[in-house]
Amino acid sequence: MEQLHPALQPVYDTVLHRNPGEREFHQAVAEVLESLNPVVDKRPEYAQASIIERVCEPERQIIFRVPWQDDSGRVQINRGFRVEFNSALGPYKGGLRFHPSVYLGIVKFLGFEQIFKNALTGMPIGGGKGGSDFDPKGKSEAEVMRFCQSFMTELYRHIGEYTDVPAGDIGVSGREIGYLFGQYKRITNRYEAGVLTGKGLSWGGSQVRTEATGYGLVFFAAEMLAAKHTNFEGKQVVVSGSGNVAIYAAEKVAQLGGTVVAMSDSGGYIVDESGIDLDEMKQLKEVRRGRISEYAEARGCTYVEAGSIWDVPCEVALPCATQNELDEKGAAALIKNGVQVVAEGANMPTTPKGTAALRQAGVAFAPGKAANAGGVATSALEMQQNASRDSWTFEHAEERLHDIMQGIYGTCAMTAEEYGMPGDYVAGANIAGFTQVADAMLALGVI
Ligand code: GLU
Repeated sequence: MEQLHPALQPVYDTVLHRNPGEREFHQAVAEVLESLNPVVDKRPEYAQASIIERVCEPERQIIFRVPWQDDSGRVQINRGFRVEFNSALGPYKGGLRFHPSVYLGIVKFLGFEQIFKNALTGMPIGGGKGGSDFDPKGKSEAEVMRFCQSFMTELYRHIGEYTDVPAGDIGVSGREIGYLFGQYKRITNRYEAGVLTGKGLSWGGSQVRTEATGYGLVFFAAEMLAAKHTNFEGKQVVVSGSGNVAIYAAEKVAQLGGTVVAMSDSGGYIVDESGIDLDEMKQLKEVRRGRISEYAEARGCTYVEAGSIWDVPCEVALPCATQNELDEKGAAALIKNGVQVVAEGANMPTTPKGTAALRQAGVAFAPGKAANAGGVATSALEMQQNASRDSWTFEHAEERLHDIMQGIYGTCAMTAEEYGMPGDYVAGANIAGFTQVADAMLALGVI
């Protein structure tokens, strides 16, 4: 970790002390605090009002029991979370993650990142995150429904259009949002479409929301390439993961003339030199919910079990799987093979050492809180449509997304320049996101 400003070290020490064992949360805070070193002297009013310490402490943390009955009649117990982190800019906004790795430290790291990501979008949304250690893998449709209903039976009292608006994340997509929304509607007897985003198109959802995180990521990466006077045409691209973010990132890369040569899941990765067949991938992952090894069997391409996808040569790498999936070894392999751009589609997929290696090697590197903000930005567009009882065309929603991503890129690039670190998108994103929230917090007083 970099040396922190003397005013920031005690803030970080307090975070470590107050949140013992929450490794991922510590990592997310450290990364932001490092970027804030130059802000402390330039804006002394923040330290004066303890804004930095305040932003590290969630406004509210909710932990609850989620009992549900499996298909054999046995009662299973999971733990549910919602961390309402910061509402200076708007109602808490952020996804729900259902994955066995979920515990308070994961939800807090995600919620913390979400504050600055949401600020960067320029939309009126605060930051929050939630989820459960429930593992959807191998569960029947009926079990997933009963789990979602039980989860919402507690969550409903904490959320609302003007309070907290959850959406999806890993393990939560249209199917789960449907069951959650159905239960909310049943309990409250109100069709409050704006209480959740990521809804289906026939019941209050927005065009492009499904595609938004992946498309937005590629729009952002296209700006990074443009700054290097190039574009996606003819580029070899590696996209880790094969979930919602990865699939639609790959789709947009292909639309812009690039070739996605490799994708992965938790079992291994595939290499398809002629470009991944995305219809096949969507069938496999969105409909059959199968393993990526089956793609290799069907297409007769290479499957590498348990290897590192970062060994596959590429000019653009888009980590779209999960936190800490790209470490210094992966970074070294990418650098050796001449990678030019790395943009994070997942939340915090690059380890601190991986990030440092890429930045030192002069690779253009964009953090998730800027590059993957297209998903939540389109959620805010969904809220807008719900509030005005309107629904936009695909073209209009995509154009708005494109404008927003260009705006975020411009903000990051300009802020980095203003602070004397041109091309440093990490510093640009952290400083711009933070100052936006901090100024609102100052204006709202000590609350
Ligand atoms: N889970 C997504 C994210 O990490 C989207 C959240 C949302 O749409 O509220 O930003």
